[in-house]
Amino acid sequence: MTIPTYECDKVNNKLTFHCPLCMKVHTHGSEEGHRISHCNNSDYHPNGYFLKNKGKQNEIKISLDN
Ligand SMILES: [Zn+2]
Repeated sequence: MTIPTYECDKVNNKLTFHCPLCMKVHTHGSEEGHRISHCNNSDYHPNGYFLKNKGKQNEIKISLDN
């Protein structure tokens, strides 16, 4: 059984990636590492996945102060 690793953008200090299996964006906390799947279908990632930050240059901050 393999556990995939997804490269994430950091948005508002949360790691986010577009899931190729359920085709949705998943948002997790700021730390890299193993996570339980956020997919609606638990069969997609029965053992979860690893998150990897693409890099600080890709960090995005969105102001919510509008
Ligand atoms: Zn998913």
